[in-house]
Amino acid sequence: MKTVLITGGTKGIGKAVAQEFLQQGYEVILNYFHDEEAALSTQSEFNMLGYCPVLMRADVSDEEQVKEMFKEVFRIYGKLDVLVNNAGISKVQVIQDTSVYDWEEVFAVNAMGTFLCSREAAESMICSGGGCIINIASIWGEVGASCEVAYSASKGAVIAFTKALAKELAPSFVRVNCVSPGVIDTDMNSHLTEVEMEDLINQIPLGRLGTGEDVAKACVFFAENSYVTGEVLSVGGGFAK
Ligand code: NAD
Repeated sequence: MKTVLITGGTKGIGKAVAQEFLQQGYEVILNYFHDEEAALSTQSEFNMLGYCPVLMRADVSDEEQVKEMFKEVFRIYGKLDVLVNNAGISKVQVIQDTSVYDWEEVFAVNAMGTFLCSREAAESMICSGGGCIINIASIWGEVGASCEVAYSASKGAVIAFTKALAKELAPSFVRVNCVSPGVIDTDMNSHLTEVEMEDLINQIPLGRLGTGEDVAKACVFFAENSYVTGEVLSVGGGFAK
């Protein structure tokens, strides 16, 4: 059975990605960091549907915790077929209010976390003859968002990282791709007022917010298609094109 590790996999987009891979018959490892109770509740929701995902706690921005998590994955499963770098944070603030701490925190999770997890996965995927790394970037990493410079820059870094690593690992049959969601209906957008949300929806050609499931289907596409690498797939209803 194929294995997939999803970082930040117990809520929002990560949870939807987990559900899609479980339905496809994968062994799913759900990384979480902040909320143990919520993670356990997600796990039991999946258990009630007849699935048995494993939970692993680690801060993806902490090198030692990431190494320990991957050691545990390899101890249990012996290999990892797919890594989804989904964990991410955003901060909405003008540049004048963005401290060095804010900048570093956003980059630590979004960019460094993606690097640290990919580095651990790459080593084992190369040894086992192939694998697939899927990075969750953002439309803002492509076109830039006002009042989200750190977030946009960190996701731009994820896109460049994806393209570079795809070239580096292709000879080892490890594929690296990126899903670039538009506005998806999760807690990440809970700071938006009803009016702001309506305004955003009006700018989306397909006329609705995206769902975690929309993003999840793109992840499964990358996992299952062995001739696609170095791609950035926008899942945004035509938004910001
Ligand atoms: P969310 O806030 O619901 O989920 C983010 C997840 O990341 C949570 O599970 C959180 O605990 C986890 N996380 C944060 N810091 C972590 C850390 N240090 N270590 C491990 N896990 C950590 O938001 P979401 O909308 O589900 O976002 C998922 C991904 O999709 C993020 O990378 C986000 O940037 C990206 N994205 C979201 C949208 C959107 O509109 N919601 C759009 C584009 C991209």
